[in-house]
Amino acid sequence: MPLLVMKFGGTSVGGTAAIQAVAAITEAQRAIWGRVVLVVSAMSGVTDMLIRGATTAATGDQRTFRDLEHALREKHATVLAGLVPDGDERAAVGAQVMQLIDEFGVLCHSVAVLGEASPRAHDAISSLGERMSARIVAAALRARGIPAEALDATEFVVTTPHFGDARPVQDLTRDRTRARLLPLLDQGVVPVVTGFIGATESGATTTLGRGGSDYSGAIVGAALDADEVAIYTDVDGVMTTDPRLAPDARVIPVLSYSEMGELAYFGAKVLHPRTIRPVVERGTPLRIRNTFNPSHPGTLVVRDVEANGQAVKAVTAIRAMSLVTVEGRGMIGVPGVAARTFGAVASAGANVLMISQASSEQSICFVVPSSTVPEVTHALEQGLAAELARRDIDRIWAREEVAIVTAVGAGMRDTPGVAAQVFGVLAAHHINVIAIAQGSSECAISIVVAASECDESVRAIHGLTAGL
Ligand code: ASP
Ligand code: MG
Repeated sequence: MPLLVMKFGGTSVGGTAAIQAVAAITEAQRAIWGRVVLVVSAMSGVTDMLIRGATTAATGDQRTFRDLEHALREKHATVLAGLVPDGDERAAVGAQVMQLIDEFGVLCHSVAVLGEASPRAHDAISSLGERMSARIVAAALRARGIPAEALDATEFVVTTPHFGDARPVQDLTRDRTRARLLPLLDQGVVPVVTGFIGATESGATTTLGRGGSDYSGAIVGAALDADEVAIYTDVDGVMTTDPRLAPDARVIPVLSYSEMGELAYFGAKVLHPRTIRPVVERGTPLRIRNTFNPSHPGTLVVRDVEANGQAVKAVTAIRAMSLVTVEGRGMIGVPGVAARTFGAVASAGANVLMISQASSEQSICFVVPSSTVPEVTHALEQGLAAELARRDIDRIWAREEVAIVTAVGAGMRDTPGVAAQVFGVLAAHHINVIAIAQGSSECAISIVVAASECDESVRAIHGLTAGL
């Protein structure tokens, strides 16, 4: 029987109406697929509250986490009451949730006494949101007549001990997830699994990093050899661009994993490549869908996309960037300058988003966040001091207030002239191109423009996505 794993994010389980929508979707998808597994985030805002409790307690503040404890009780009790009729079931689930909130109080109290929150304590505290929401969602499903059971992923998602940013241990996770979930599925039960969390082999609770429930969805989907993993969120799918910039932005029907990766890298709010790696490795189709518009097919993300003549699929922009240039005639044919340049940048802890070198080799330029420019230039001046003294390098300078505009589409690989089209529309809008880079995946072209021309550049290139 086919199997669908559905991950519901924080807004999707953010209140009574949202969880009712989740239950309706579960019922409908279960009728289609036969077997479904849910992976859920904490109710929106809850993880932030938990973390605030931990961090304020660490300063010795005994008050804030008590207030938060109260607010968490209210929030969860109200939602549960809206979903499950008064009676034994509501009382039992309510007691479980309240026990988790008691645990929050106890943990924060110990943190306050100690005056510090270890990464391990942080994870024990921030994991509580998913443990509460999974219980409430499972209860909501049962209230609708769907057999369901809440499960803590700590039982079967085995991770490295990197608290706050743990990684799954693949084989153990696969074996345990299958052993725990498949029998339930055979009995027709819908497992409702906590996103975001796991445990080390010795049983300490870990988290997969903020936003980690997507990762959990992919981990569980891969472990169970799911036929599809659906990520339910509060938008219809991945858009051709930010609709605030271009009102004619549309949902992209189909993307490849690598297009998705480029989009994530260049600032679009889509799934992080790391989080989808488990499904990418298996070639499992992934779908991004809207909990609040369930009839919309969303965006399907697959390994290979058939070319449809549409070279540019999406445009994205990253702002607040600076273009750093290292230039000098003495760089020609001298090996190692690039290595030392980027070594220096790395030592400054700066993230390089784009690199380009003209073939004359008289300059190397690269883009870094503007906030890192002082450290980067300082590190370069130190790392290249000898070349500067010899005048092999004439100058190191930064052009601030630029943006990277990136056109993404796997079709660029096989479509000659796409770059020409992109530069053509920019020229038609009198936009000055400061630098260009094309990644070796050939799935994206990035262009550096003045920050003031960023929006217009996005709109101009977005025109090329028409007809998608
Ligand atoms: N609840 C966690 C967070 O807010 C994980 C998630 O929502 O994906 O980061
Ligand atoms: Mg989230």
